[in-house]
Amino acid sequence: MKVAPAAIGFGLLLAAFPLATALHRSMYAAPGQHDQPPVGYSDTPVLPGQKWRVHDIDRPVPPAVTPGENGAPPSDAVVLFDGKDLSLWASGDGDAKWLVKEGFAEVNGTGSIRTREAFGDCQLHIEWATPAQVESSSQGRGNSGVFFLGRYEIQVLDSFENRTYADGQAGAMYGQFPPLVNASRGPGQWQSYDIVFRAPRFEGDKLLQPARVTVFHNGVLVQDAQEYLGPSAHRSLPSYSPAHPSTGPIELQDHGNPVRYRNIWLRKL
Ligand code: MG
Repeated sequence: MKVAPAAIGFGLLLAAFPLATALHRSMYAAPGQHDQPPVGYSDTPVLPGQKWRVHDIDRPVPPAVTPGENGAPPSDAVVLFDGKDLSLWASGDGDAKWLVKEGFAEVNGTGSIRTREAFGDCQLHIEWATPAQVESSSQGRGNSGVFFLGRYEIQVLDSFENRTYADGQAGAMYGQFPPLVNASRGPGQWQSYDIVFRAPRFEGDKLLQPARVTVFHNGVLVQDAQEYLGPSAHRSLPSYSPAHPSTGPIELQDHGNPVRYRNIWLRKL
């Protein structure tokens, strides 16, 4: 009977498997512990710039976090808006007055809103929808924005087939860097930002570390650890002078268009 070369190869593989497994164990497991692989080592080199050894058995393990499903907050998040009320938000000298209904908050001309609590380095999840009814164009179409420290904007705009300046479209670091791609969904559809923001650091008036942001728009990377040139500015150059605190509110912009927000949560970093 003729045996196909593939079958011979498979037979050799089966024969070699126990040997390979035994070899693997002898290489990677401590003597006498063949049934349980080691959970770490204390005889390995120290990592450069760290106080831990390679695979250090004493290195603290990260805390367990239960992730949320479909963008819902994970177990360690600060829930800033769960669709019910804006009690954690302020506007001007008083409470936030945006319209809350059907699980979302809608811009209504009462001014921008900001968190009562100040945040610095953070991971932010936020969902937004520009009006289904398209009115106006360019910067007049579904304009809003997410500001960190009340100063650093990630633009919110209906950028679905809507020509405007590149550094002003959705996902832009407003006035500084366009998004890497346009990942916009159409008007009226819910969209998401997942943002990692790193606050700038100052020593006196001297800038030590600029602000930095990574943004996913609808799950697509649009800003890749990009550094801000300074707080967001309109038709002018940004500047890190004067210095400012490294914490501040998350602010949502009232730009006169009825943009909706829902499911806003944050993790402090
Ligand atoms: Mg804006």
